[in-house]
Amino acid sequence: MMDRIYLDHAATTPVTKPVLEAMLPYFTDCYGNASSIHGTGRDARRGVENAREKVAKALGADSTSEIYFTSGGTESDNWAIKGYCLANQDRGRHLICSCIEHHAVLHTCESLRKMGFSLTVLPVDSEGFVDPEDVRKALRKDTILVSVMTANNEIGTLEPIREIAQIVHGQGALMHTDAVQAVGAIPLDVSEVGVDMLSLSGHKLGAPKGVGALYMKKGTHIQPFMDGGEQERRLRAGTENVPGIVGLGQAVEDAVQRLPAFTQKVRSLRDDLRYRILEAIPDVLVNGPRDSRLPGNLNISLLGLEGESVLLRLDLAGIAASSGSACTAGSLDPSHVLMAIGRTRQEAQSSLRLTLGWENTKEEIDVTVDVLKEIVHDLRSLRLH
Ligand code: PLP
Repeated sequence: MMDRIYLDHAATTPVTKPVLEAMLPYFTDCYGNASSIHGTGRDARRGVENAREKVAKALGADSTSEIYFTSGGTESDNWAIKGYCLANQDRGRHLICSCIEHHAVLHTCESLRKMGFSLTVLPVDSEGFVDPEDVRKALRKDTILVSVMTANNEIGTLEPIREIAQIVHGQGALMHTDAVQAVGAIPLDVSEVGVDMLSLSGHKLGAPKGVGALYMKKGTHIQPFMDGGEQERRLRAGTENVPGIVGLGQAVEDAVQRLPAFTQKVRSLRDDLRYRILEAIPDVLVNGPRDSRLPGNLNISLLGLEGESVLLRLDLAGIAASSGSACTAGSLDPSHVLMAIGRTRQEAQSSLRLTLGWENTKEEIDVTVDVLKEIVHDLRSLRLH
């Protein structure tokens, strides 16, 4: 089989060997229900609490009781935003988010708007940055929650979360951040950035799909996400996904430990890829900021082409990437993020996202540049004939 080159780590990452090894006993020997009081159950409980400690430590939480396990980033975002707003609506019914949030946040805020909450969606500049002054201006007496992502999943922009959180707290509101793309990719400490709630997801950092966590600062009043049993301190019912949680704990611990090496390796490969694409291929726009961005993220617009056609050709050549368009009912909708930073519809539809990970190599970058150059050349000549 042809060796495939995987450049879509923002979509998902492979489960690492140490994570898989940490999880395996929890499918077989330690298969207990973590709520059972017998020894088999207690073994499973130990796995869960051990993982909670790892996540709390990696995030710089004050206590393990501030970490709640969920089914992933989407659930954490939904729970944080709906759970907080519904539990605190007697204090106000206004919330704020940015226009480049992941749909897990945007659609959640929109649901609340339909329920009668008032929603302000903040603009971003041409590199995707939220201006903290815009947050200050948007805050009202009845604002209870602001949600701004730590790192954007499409163009990699790292938002000024610390500054925004200070402004938000100054007005007595709470700050949630979607850090799904950031945990394990950049240094992140909840007490340092000063957020009240933070969402993370396992499958973006070497753990399996279907597990995540929500950090919630002690004293945060929130509604349960699901009704049922007493798991997760009565706030998130349902038998715990013990192997997944154990995998998440291991993955977060490993990711934080290898962070300096990861950043150096992945950023250098990404910079090389960007430089060589710009050198080899004419009419390319880079989307997103040059510096304050995720180390593994590169997003470009190949002017005059459809990102989807490039993607299909790359796939045929064994290279997995992503485009900024979402196919809805047969038509290609340009990315809301690229439109928000001021790209035209055509520029947005010609986008290609390449996201690098720990296991990518220099040789893979070389092959990718050569293959992409040929594809772009072919597709552009076809357009001329
Ligand atoms: N938030 C961001 C920024 C993401 O990139 C993603 C996934 O792509 C999510 C939330 C959703 O996470 P999950 O796939 O774990 O539901």
